[in-house]
Amino acid sequence: MKFCSRRKLCRLCGSRKLTGLGTLAVFPAHAGEGPDPEGTIPSWPVEWSLCEACHHLQNTQIIQPEHLYRTSPYRSRAIPGRAAYLNRTAEIITGLPAFPKAGKVIEVGANDGQLLELLGTRERQVIGVDPSPVLPQLPEAAKPLWLDDVFEAKAAASIRRQHGMVDAIVAIGTFSRIDNLHAFLAATRYVLKEGGVFVFDIPNLASLVAHNRLDWVSHEILSFPTIGILQQFFDQNLMRLVQVLPEAGTPDNLLCVARRKEAGTEAETSVQAAIQQEQQRQGKELQSITEWVTRLPTQGERARAFLAAAREKHGTLGGIGLDHGSWNVLHVLGITPALVDVLFDDNPAIQAGGPGSGLAWPVHRLGDLAKHKPGAVVLLNQDLKLDPALNAYREKGGKVIALFPEPAYAGK
Ligand SMILES: [Zn+2]
Repeated sequence: MKFCSRRKLCRLCGSRKLTGLGTLAVFPAHAGEGPDPEGTIPSWPVEWSLCEACHHLQNTQIIQPEHLYRTSPYRSRAIPGRAAYLNRTAEIITGLPAFPKAGKVIEVGANDGQLLELLGTRERQVIGVDPSPVLPQLPEAAKPLWLDDVFEAKAAASIRRQHGMVDAIVAIGTFSRIDNLHAFLAATRYVLKEGGVFVFDIPNLASLVAHNRLDWVSHEILSFPTIGILQQFFDQNLMRLVQVLPEAGTPDNLLCVARRKEAGTEAETSVQAAIQQEQQRQGKELQSITEWVTRLPTQGERARAFLAAAREKHGTLGGIGLDHGSWNVLHVLGITPALVDVLFDDNPAIQAGGPGSGLAWPVHRLGDLAKHKPGAVVLLNQDLKLDPALNAYREKGGKVIALFPEPAYAGK
């Protein structure tokens, strides 16, 4: 099977006018499989392009989802802080007037079922779809219905045959990870009842540069659409974007609601308001994204010089991550074991190393910080500020350096 292929047409509008912004980084399919100083794990480039026709910013090097997700180390439940975020997200989704109080709901990209369980009730049956076979490990009582596949025609037909049509489809942290969005929307339309809702989120493009989202440079995040592009795309695919809830997610995500296009399906004012805001900043935003990408190598140089100085000052450095997304940051900035002596991450799959990784750079539990006593630790994810093990380290005089998201070294 060909693992990696290059997309030549815009993912949303089909135009050939893709302008490459260049290779942003080269690293293994799952950043969590690395760091790989001996270079034994196959690596692929992350390459972004802007569509000149619709201005969609997109990743054009595609790793087959079967390869990317079947062996992914990501487990929602292994991440501290994720439960609180998903609780809030479930409250917002189930509180939407259009969200069904009873009936059937599909969650696409259900991972280990953490959100799926929150959406399910006695009256509301949930069906999880995910290409990574992790949900079957849940306790039997907590196990919702499950389909181990990507959500395209075959999965949609299978669900409709077994369960009939559904009242809602939810995709949180998933929409921007889908390469064939046309096939995905066709599957959505095929199983969604008349009047049903599709609730999903997308990365908020305005955050990319403002919050220096180095972790978005990955093999997984393929699309950074604007609301304007999405509105057109849904229209062309017989769906309608009806609501945008910018205040509902985090500053880095926009929560959206769409429906099948039927008589009387009108967009709320929130959609037009979001599009107007985007239009006002569009020219500037495209320019600043291009500049941000161009500055990445310089940012890497500065980060490495900054860490070399910190290591000299503190003796040894520890690096702390939180799931494989944080490890993208190491790859993007070109940080090697020569700069960071010991790594910590509470995800057991990352501690064990990915398939065939042969990690030369061991990863330890955060609870072992006291044992290893690095002179200072570098944070690769802002959510880690809340971790008790990190606070205990800090209380005993440990020095914590925040490398991300808005580091002192990044400058302009
Ligand atoms: Zn396009």
